[in-house]
Amino acid sequence: MARAHNFFAGPAVLPLSVIEETRDAVMDFANIGVSIMEISHRDKAFDKVVAEAQADALSLMGLSAQEYAVIFLGGGASMQFAMLPLNFLQKKADYVNTGEWASKALKEAKIIGEAVEVATSKATNFNQLPRNIKYSPDADYVHITTNNTIYGTEWKTDPDVGSVPLTADMSSDILSIKRNFSKYSLIYAGGQKNLGPAGVVMVVIKKAWMEAKAKQNLSSMLKYKTHVDAGSMYNTPPCLPVFVVGRTLKWIIKEGGLEAIEARNQKKAKLIYDIFDAYPTFYKSAVAVKEDRSLMNITWNLPTPELEEKFITEAKAKKMLGLKGHRSVGGMRASVYNACPMESVELLAKHMEEFYQANK
Ligand SMILES: *Cc1c(COP(=O)(O)O)cnc(C)c1O
Repeated sequence: MARAHNFFAGPAVLPLSVIEETRDAVMDFANIGVSIMEISHRDKAFDKVVAEAQADALSLMGLSAQEYAVIFLGGGASMQFAMLPLNFLQKKADYVNTGEWASKALKEAKIIGEAVEVATSKATNFNQLPRNIKYSPDADYVHITTNNTIYGTEWKTDPDVGSVPLTADMSSDILSIKRNFSKYSLIYAGGQKNLGPAGVVMVVIKKAWMEAKAKQNLSSMLKYKTHVDAGSMYNTPPCLPVFVVGRTLKWIIKEGGLEAIEARNQKKAKLIYDIFDAYPTFYKSAVAVKEDRSLMNITWNLPTPELEEKFITEAKAKKMLGLKGHRSVGGMRASVYNACPMESVELLAKHMEEFYQANK
C-alpha cells in the first residue's frame, strides 16, 4: 500500500504499525475470534486494553496512579470546553485566549459562570502568545491551550500560576513535547491529532482536586467523578478509538518515550522553519515570535493567493496532502504530528526549496 504524505490537521496521520495492529484487531481481537468492534466492553481482554492505556499514559507523563486518573470519554475536546466549567467553575476562572479553540473554551465557560479572559493575543490575530499574564489568585482554575492548532503557536514551557489549579487543552500537542505534567490539575486531548482516531478524548485529572472541589449536583454523565470512580467504564466507552489510542501510547514508548519523540519533532519542525528563515519574504511565517512557533502545526503565507494555490496543487501531485490553512485563516499549514514521518517532512522541505527557486 502506498501511503501519502499526510499533513492534515485532524483527523491526522497515525503510525503505520498502529494502523496494522488495528486492522488485525478489527478482524480478530486477541485471538478470541471476534472483532474489537464486537466484544463486550466488560470482557477481561478489553479491560486490559483500557487499564494498559491508562497506565501507559500516566507513565509517559511521569504521573502516578495514586494522584491522577485517566479516563476516555466521547464528545471530543469540544465537550470538555463545557465539562470542565460544569465541574469546577464555582466563582470564577481565568482563560488565556490564544486562538479559535481557546475562544470556544472561553465561550462555553461563560455560559456556566464568570470566565475571565485574563490575556489574549487577538489584537494581532493570535500570531504570538500573550506575555506577562497576571492571573487571579482567587480563581477556581486557569485554562490554557498548549498548542494552537489553527494559528501555529505553542506554549513550550508550562506557566506558573501559583496555587491556582492549572488546566489545559492539549489536543494538538499531547505527548509530543516534554512537559511538567504534574503542574496540571486537569489535561484533556481529543484523540484525532496525536493519539488516535476521532471519537475519544483523553482526560487526565488530579483526583484530590476533583474530590475537594468538583460540583456534585450534575448529571452523572457530565461528572468527572462518575467516570473516574468507574475506571472509565461507567457506560460503554468508544471501544475501537480507545484501542487505537492504547496502541499509539505503546508506539510512543517503543520509539523511546517523550525524550526521543520531542527530539524528532524538534528536528522535523526545524527543517521547515529553517526555510522560513532563509526566505522570509517568500515563506512568511504566520507566527511573529520565534519561540512561540509550534512543533506540531506550522503556518505560513506565500506572497499571493495564486502562488499558494499553485504550491498546494504541485504538492498534491507529489502525494503531499492537507497543506491548506484552516478555512478561518487561509494561507498554508503543515501539521507534523508525532506520527508524521521524517521522510514526509524532508519531502516538503525539498518542495519548498524547489518552489522558491522556480517562483521567487
Ligand atoms: C481539534 C481541536 C479541538 C476540537 O476537537 P473536537 O474533538 O473536534 O471537539 C479542540 N482544541 C484543540 C486545541 C484542537 O486542536
